[in-house]
Amino acid sequence: MRKYQYLIPRRIVQLSILLLFVGGNYFGWEIVRGNYSSAIIADVLNLSDPYAVMQIVAAGFLASSSVLFGALIVFLIYVIIGGRMFCSWVCPMNIVTDLAFRLRRTFKIETENKINISRSIRFYILGLSLLVSVVFGMAAFEVISPISMLHRAIVFGSGSGLAIVALVFLVDLFILKAGWCGHICPLGAFYSVFGKQAIIKVKHNHNNCTNCMACFDVCIEEQVLSIVGKESDFIRSGACTNCGRCIEVCDDNALKYALKFDLKK
Ligand code: SF4
Ligand code: SF4
Repeated sequence: MRKYQYLIPRRIVQLSILLLFVGGNYFGWEIVRGNYSSAIIADVLNLSDPYAVMQIVAAGFLASSSVLFGALIVFLIYVIIGGRMFCSWVCPMNIVTDLAFRLRRTFKIETENKINISRSIRFYILGLSLLVSVVFGMAAFEVISPISMLHRAIVFGSGSGLAIVALVFLVDLFILKAGWCGHICPLGAFYSVFGKQAIIKVKHNHNNCTNCMACFDVCIEEQVLSIVGKESDFIRSGACTNCGRCIEVCDDNALKYALKFDLKK
């Protein structure tokens, strides 16, 4: 069970959120209504994706004060507490891309990427999406987002966007390791920009590390583990999704979750 000590709770959280959306649509539950870009909790609190709100504002629409407030709450939760945790604990696409990542490793589909693109490209896509929102007067990424497509497919039974979800899966599986979440997704990029500040971090203890590199094998952002085997420190990069997979597979107790203020080695 230790190998899945964070994976199981992550899946429970991701699937529970989906279930609440489904219940809202089919059974009239009023716990969570809306979607991953903007949701109303218990008919009281609005929680909005700050990146989606930025696109809406860039497109020239006015966001209500409750939407702006909801975006601020979400922004502060991730920036101050969890960094890019939306990706590993909330986003439904993570289930799809993790599956591709796992199948790729299990069947040794490819050790070298068929194409090599810089992980920085997602930040250009992020900027471009805001620019396109301004020019065309619409929230550009929301129109093509696989996250929205998957949500609509599961919650409303709409199959129209599933081709995009399938494309992401196939690219991740056969063409580019961690292609979508590790290279392209602008929402993941948005949270990475601010994730560095978060207080929950993975911490590496160099004294326990045997350089087995098991953590590199399971990490979709392996570049963030550059200190492993070299020094004791936090994984400081905002690209870390705080998924905890590296901690689960480390048999030497060299990685753990810690608060940024924890100065103990
Ligand atoms: S990178 Fe994008 S699709 Fe992947 S988990 Fe994060 S928000 Fe979801
Ligand atoms: S460093 Fe660990 S917690 Fe961060 S993304 Fe990689 S496997 Fe997940």
